Amino acid sequence: MSYIDMKYISTYYYANVIQGVIEDPSSYLMNLESIFGDSGVLNYIEPFKKRSNLHAFIEFIIDSLFWEQYSKLKISNCIDRSHFDFDNPRYITPLEHIFEEYGVDHLSFMEWWNDSEEDILEERHFEDYYQELVLLEGYYKVIELLGEEVFYILFLNRKLLQEFNEIFSSYLNMCDGDDFAMEFVKENSLEPILKTDYKLKRVSIPSWVKRAVYFRDRGACTKCGKDLSGYLSLENQENYDHIVPLNLYGFNDVTNIQLLCKECNSKKSGYQRAAETKYQSWYKK
Ligand SMILES: [Zn+2]
Repeated sequence: MSYIDMKYISTYYYANVIQGVIEDPSSYLMNLESIFGDSGVLNYIEPFKKRSNLHAFIEFIIDSLFWEQYSKLKISNCIDRSHFDFDNPRYITPLEHIFEEYGVDHLSFMEWWNDSEEDILEERHFEDYYQELVLLEGYYKVIELLGEEVFYILFLNRKLLQEFNEIFSSYLNMCDGDDFAMEFVKENSLEPILKTDYKLKRVSIPSWVKRAVYFRDRGACTKCGKDLSGYLSLENQENYDHIVPLNLYGFNDVTNIQLLCKECNSKKSGYQRAAETKYQSWYKK
C-alpha cells in the first residue's frame, strides 16, 4: 500500500504529544523506561524494518493516550445519540468516533453495555469497556492507521528524527557492559547485527529506504542544497547518511537516514552534527 487515506482526526494532536515526549523524555520517563530500559531497546535493533522504530513508538504513545482517556472518561465527553432520553441511553465514546471514521469493526460501548449485567451506567464502566475493547483486533488496527498518519507528518521533521534517534542510542549505549543485555543478545541470537561494544553493524540500505529519504529530502543535499537528481551532472552522487552515526550508537532505521552530497558526507564522517532544518519552500516568495 503506497497511499494513505488521511482522515486528519486528531492527527496533529497526537503528533504534537509525540513531539513533546521526544523533546522532553524526562516528562515521560517512567513509560520510556518500560520500553527501552533493562535492554528493552535491543528489541528495536533489527535493521530497516518497514514498521520503523518511530511507527512502534507512535503506536505505543497513542495506545497509552487511549488508555488515559478511558480511565478518566466522563459521560459528558461522550456523544449522546439518544438526545437525552436517559431511559434509553445511546452513548458513543470518543474512540468509537475514530473507529467509525476509519471504518474499522469494533465493539461499541452500547453493545458492551447491553451485554453487561449492570443496571446503572457509571463512569467506571468506561474503563471496563476499554479493557474489553483492547482485546479485539480492531483496536490495534485503528492505532496502526492513526499512527501511519502521524508518521507521515513527523517524518518530515529531521530535527525531531534526530532527537528521537538520540533517545534510542542513549539506551543502546547503556547496554555496553550490562550483563542482562549480554544474555538478551545470546538468547535472541543478535550477534550478527551487533558489534562487541553494542554498536550496530553497517548494513546495506534497502532501496525503499533510499527512495523514501530521497523523496522526502527532494533529491538535494540536506546540508548544502546541491541537487543530486543526476539529470545534469554525473558528479553529484547521493549519499545516505546516518543522522546519528553508527559509531555513536545510531540505528539502522529509515528515521535515522538523510540525504547528503558526497562532499558534505565526507566532511561529516562519523561525527554528529545538528540535523539540517532548512527546507525548500513550496514556491518562491
Ligand atoms: Zn552537500
